Amino acid sequence: MPARKSAKEWNAGQTGESRTPIRSSVIEQCTVERCGDVASSRRLPRGWVRTSVSESSEPAREWCSGWCSTVGIALAELRMQDAG
Ligand SMILES: [Zn+2]
Repeated sequence: MPARKSAKEWNAGQTGESRTPIRSSVIEQCTVERCGDVASSRRLPRGWVRTSVSESSEPAREWCSGWCSTVGIALAELRMQDAG
């Protein structure tokens, strides 16, 4: 599968545009604004989590909750396997 498609799915999560997940019934799209955004230098709101998985092609990202960050880390680790 091309990586570009995955990248689009990330963006869809940010804009709230609904896109049918193919194999992720467990992962619900988070509707919180900026959840899953690439990490910036801003100060995170209370309860937000910043993740960074080394050796993954995924950049550091910010999440609105521990649950969202868990999903994000799992996805980043998948990218790591893709990279081989
Ligand atoms: Zn979230």
